Amino acid sequence: MFRTNTCGELRLRDVNKEVVLCGWVQRIRDKGGMIWIDLRDRYGITQLIFEEGKTSPEIIEIARSLGREYVIKAQGIVAERVAKNPKMPTGDIEIKVQKLETLNPSAVPPFLIEDETDGGEDLRMKYRYLDLRRNPVRRNLELRHQMLQKTRQYLDSQGFLEIETPFLIKSTPEGARDYVVPSRIHPGEFYALPQSPQTFKQLLMVSGMDKYFQIVKCFRDEDLRADRQPEFTQIDCEMSFVTQNDVLSTFEGLIRFLFKEVKGIDMDPFPRMSYADAIKYYGSDKPDIRFDMKFVDITTLAEGKGFPVFDSAEIVVGIRAKGCAGYTRKQLDELTDFVRRPQIGGKGLVYVRYNPDGTLKSSVDKYFSAEDLAAWAQKFEAQPGDLMLIMAGETNKTRSALNELRLKMGADLQLRDKNVFKPLWVIDFPLLEWDEETQRFHAMHHPFTSPKPEDVKLLDSNPANVRANAYDLVINGVEIGGGSIRIHQKDIQQKMFRTLGFTDEEAKKQFGFLMEAFEFGAPPHGGIAFGFDRLCALFGGADSIRDFIAFPKNNAARDVMIDSPSTISQAQLDELHLAIKK
Ligand code: ASP
Repeated sequence: MFRTNTCGELRLRDVNKEVVLCGWVQRIRDKGGMIWIDLRDRYGITQLIFEEGKTSPEIIEIARSLGREYVIKAQGIVAERVAKNPKMPTGDIEIKVQKLETLNPSAVPPFLIEDETDGGEDLRMKYRYLDLRRNPVRRNLELRHQMLQKTRQYLDSQGFLEIETPFLIKSTPEGARDYVVPSRIHPGEFYALPQSPQTFKQLLMVSGMDKYFQIVKCFRDEDLRADRQPEFTQIDCEMSFVTQNDVLSTFEGLIRFLFKEVKGIDMDPFPRMSYADAIKYYGSDKPDIRFDMKFVDITTLAEGKGFPVFDSAEIVVGIRAKGCAGYTRKQLDELTDFVRRPQIGGKGLVYVRYNPDGTLKSSVDKYFSAEDLAAWAQKFEAQPGDLMLIMAGETNKTRSALNELRLKMGADLQLRDKNVFKPLWVIDFPLLEWDEETQRFHAMHHPFTSPKPEDVKLLDSNPANVRANAYDLVINGVEIGGGSIRIHQKDIQQKMFRTLGFTDEEAKKQFGFLMEAFEFGAPPHGGIAFGFDRLCALFGGADSIRDFIAFPKNNAARDVMIDSPSTISQAQLDELHLAIKK
């Protein structure tokens, strides 16, 4: 045996045992007559001790030659410590070393391999394999592992088959750009890496596989936004002969199982909210419902009193911040600056203080009487001590800016606790979304999503109002998953492509295989996919998905460790029939 134990398992009960441990040198303390070494591996840290007069001089000499992160093998006897360390699981014991071997020396690491490191993000990414030696990062990967195992366990128990689908495919339009792979043997032709296995999982339903899942890499060449990775992992699922409700309850089951097994949390049944209500009450299709602060529309109360900003607005809408009437002028100015930031896009902010003495004081007292403000306060269901924050303008823009303000207030008031989990199904998404730039409709989810049967008749007359059998799972304001009941009839799929501006030839060229499959007895089906990296980050109480990926790319989509993307040789280019424009 190379080693008898790990660095995390020895206890008092092991005293007097002869053991062999291997690991990395975390720390050396040399007090002249005594040397202590903290030996670390994945499982923990065990203290080694060398004592002049007791340990042989050759061994002491080797111990003195070691440096941080050397890999060593130590043989010795487990002994009870005189000075115990209750903070360490192995803190009651130490190893009196009798044999010591350097398995491999180490260069001085570029940053501290400790829980708190001095290494900046860039340096840690370049030496990610060293960063992964640190406990917090390793623990994230352990969590990810556990989530993977539990996901498989649940889906297997529900009769799902895990089936792999190819990575070298042809474009599936899901709103992002494809990563493409040039073909060597077919000059001028390209594969695309899947943005998701969408069409394949649907074809598996045509095959009669009935319940499919795959924990799968997806690739999207998107413009970089914070917390996006060009390759990411989905829990991708599809089922046959199901209603929307069947899909929601099956996967609510998965998420509840994960919370129970991984975090020991019993979740209440997940509430459901229509897309229309989410937008109306939260200005977002992924509301954070850990806190209330619903939007209150006071358009009819606020207009026609001579305040030009409100009179020219499509909507006047606000939120009530409980107990915030005492906000200072400076705090209110800061909120106004916040909503005016270009990325938020608000024009300004009106406030009404409901003072503890019952009086109302607003930033627009010039235009509104005490009765006006009292009517607003009633609509807001405000109490003395509350603050009302009001915005006005074009409906969509105002709602989305107010959403940002609501989230900021929630954070400022500490209502967004990382240890509280509030899931929400958002349902009844619109099928289509008008794109100003291209002057056409786009599929809001993807082109395979089924319209609600009762709305199919609107496809010709009023496409913007067609609702889809589509749903998202949102937890704490983060979109964790999304899916839909699919179209399974060729004629409706064809109609959908036409609505999206495809000619019949284009549709046939890109999706002929799917529409043909629909002619061979395609069952009704639907599914969902979860963003697995994001789910792990949520469970780990972190904001960034990067922390839960072993080898992530940076914000510029680069892997700075292996230095990719990179150029390739002229010979490779020639073989792939590619010419690079200089
Ligand atoms: N393929 C979809 C996506 O990646 C999910 C689904 O509709 O199942 O978002």
